[in-house]
Amino acid sequence: MSSLRFNAVQEAFKKKALVVSAPEKFTSDYYGKYVFNSTAMAKYLSKDTLKALKNVINKGAILDVALANQIASGMKLWATELGATHYTHWFQPLTDGTAEKHDSFIDYVGGPGEEIIEDFSGKLLVQQEPDASSFPNGGIRSTFEARGYTAWDPSSPAFVVDDTLVIPTIFFSYTGEALDLKAPLKKALAAVDAAATAVCQLFDPKVKKVNAFLGWEQEYFLVDESLYATRPDLALTGRTLLGHESAKNQQLEDHYFGAVPSRVAAYMKDIEFEAYKYGIPAKTRHNEVAPNQFELAPIYGECNLAVDQNLLMMSIMKKVARRHGFRLLLHEKPFAGVNGSGKHNNWSLGTDTGVVLYAPGKTAEENLQFIAFITTTLMAVHKHNALLKASIMTAQNAHRLGANEAPPAIISAFLGTQLTAVLDKLENSTSEEAILIDDKKKLNLNIPHIPEVFLDNTDRNRTSPFAFTGNRFEFRAVGSSANCSSAMTALNSAVAAQLIEFKAEVDAKMAAGATKEKAIFDVIKSYIKASKAIRFDGNGYSDEWKVEAAKRGLDCETSAPEIVKAYTSPSSVELFTKLGVLTEKELESRNEVKWETYVKWIQIEARVLGDLTLNHIIPVATRYQSLLLDNVSKIKAAFPADKAESLNKLNSQLIVEIAERIAVIKNAVDDMVDTRRQVNKLDHEYDKAVAYHDKVLPYFDIIRYNVDKLELIVDDEMWTLPKYRELLFIR
Ligand code: ADP
Ligand code: MG
Repeated sequence: MSSLRFNAVQEAFKKKALVVSAPEKFTSDYYGKYVFNSTAMAKYLSKDTLKALKNVINKGAILDVALANQIASGMKLWATELGATHYTHWFQPLTDGTAEKHDSFIDYVGGPGEEIIEDFSGKLLVQQEPDASSFPNGGIRSTFEARGYTAWDPSSPAFVVDDTLVIPTIFFSYTGEALDLKAPLKKALAAVDAAATAVCQLFDPKVKKVNAFLGWEQEYFLVDESLYATRPDLALTGRTLLGHESAKNQQLEDHYFGAVPSRVAAYMKDIEFEAYKYGIPAKTRHNEVAPNQFELAPIYGECNLAVDQNLLMMSIMKKVARRHGFRLLLHEKPFAGVNGSGKHNNWSLGTDTGVVLYAPGKTAEENLQFIAFITTTLMAVHKHNALLKASIMTAQNAHRLGANEAPPAIISAFLGTQLTAVLDKLENSTSEEAILIDDKKKLNLNIPHIPEVFLDNTDRNRTSPFAFTGNRFEFRAVGSSANCSSAMTALNSAVAAQLIEFKAEVDAKMAAGATKEKAIFDVIKSYIKASKAIRFDGNGYSDEWKVEAAKRGLDCETSAPEIVKAYTSPSSVELFTKLGVLTEKELESRNEVKWETYVKWIQIEARVLGDLTLNHIIPVATRYQSLLLDNVSKIKAAFPADKAESLNKLNSQLIVEIAERIAVIKNAVDDMVDTRRQVNKLDHEYDKAVAYHDKVLPYFDIIRYNVDKLELIVDDEMWTLPKYRELLFIR
């Protein structure tokens, strides 16, 4: 074995699980200790300040300077007691992940050279101007006026990481355009709140606010860091660009829910301790389907906060992995041939009166409301299926979707047999038959036992990208490394717009003399009919579905750069502009950024692939070929000609195969470089992205196929790159 690889494997094998113990005996003793939550606020803010802040958070009251100063001083005291010396505005630029710039609390008491104090004013809390000219913005800010501002989001509590007070913020340009993913999400959440509240009030006038809930399930891979260090593709691109499948991978399905390896168990404990410190309610941990693949899922919470917590969690997971001698892979498809990673977004809406609107109720009235929300959501997903797909599409996630293990690259909704039966029955019933008002003036859907029947919704369909799971929808197409904001902005906007339409249609029918129940029922019925094409409970992986989905008019595009275009389709532009979530200009510039990012990723991967093949694969294969050639001449020298020829048959075949494969690889790499040179000259990001997808990407497969074949025949001792069987099995 090449010494580099040999040492790495040895090192990985020797590592033992760390011993980790909880900071306190009970989780509740330290839960949220590093978050400026209600408990901390109550302790560090005066009653009046707290009341005023609550008004800002819950009712959107204006935050004035005096109030900001009071909050900032309480927050600073709290943070310094936890060891903070610095603060940062934490924001979510258009390239996933988060950005932060740290400043110290120190300031001169008076002028320069005077004594120093720790200071944190309301002004610093509320707004900052990071030097952010190099964040991607798709041309919204020309560089000479590259001013971006961050503004505090009081609805997501500040927290302390190490020595820094972290303040969640939105990021926007001098001219007011959003430059981040949080600002549009917050607008979409406000839109869905208003729209859903109006619909809820048809049923219960006491409802004053509707929250969107998000429960994410974070899938991830762990790789030993010694092995990771010897795989430049993993280190630079987050995925293996080469590598033959291991003889054993996930065939036996022995990893899913299996016993967690002890090193990983220690890691899981550790990230949970960290999660609890930050008030992230980590609940579920288990092995996933692929070897070395795992999952962490917290209890769901308010969408904006859940998104922030996911971002924080991803960075905690990365950091803690190092402590355990691991590297965390959040890439959607780090290994070919085994499952990729997603981040299921469990989503629902719930009222301030405690009703989850996607859970069947106990009364017929509650169930009518439930069905209203289900059908409105189906309508929204049907109308905007192309947009929803665009909202989760990246160069990375493209490898995962449609790969026969993740959701297919067509958005459809799974309802399960019971809910399907309910909708079918409603669709085919006449209003007279279906609407029976009983003596308590309650609407009866004439479908007995609805609550009992499908409260326990156990039927699952893993192939569906958007599945109803009992009290929520599960948007499964979201990628593991993604910021959930994109998907949540699209989904909440689409549903908000449809709820507005629903309410308007019901109002119109009532104005024309229909009873409220009949009006609602009729709109529901029309929605069931109109959104039928989005419902699909069958096998999403099958070829028949692709044909069928196209017939139904669903978006079947598979090229990532094309999929992204759905953001600027007339229906998407209308959706976002009407709700005030994003302007057309913002949508266009966001797409520019997406195409640019797409191109950069494929470009980086192509370079790494070229380097690896030229510096690792071809030299090693050639060296092995020389050994074989040497052997051939020695046999020729030792045996009579005809005997030598028969003895050399196998060697000769190998020599030829190696020569041929090397030639194919070398040619493909050269052609790929040429192609890149040509397409780099294209002017528009969109054209470039399409060209990278159509013209550059296909070389990856040719190169990989031949390299992986070489891996099978070249002497294992010479092969420099750790193989899948070494990367994928933590012991
Ligand atoms: P599974 O793997 O079976 O889908 P998990 O338990 O891993 O389920 O994750 C389910 C996620 O859905 C959890 O985060 C859970 O808190 C969340 N969840 C449950 N009910 C709702 C709801 N009404 N709205 C949003 N998320 C929910
Ligand atoms: Mg799930």
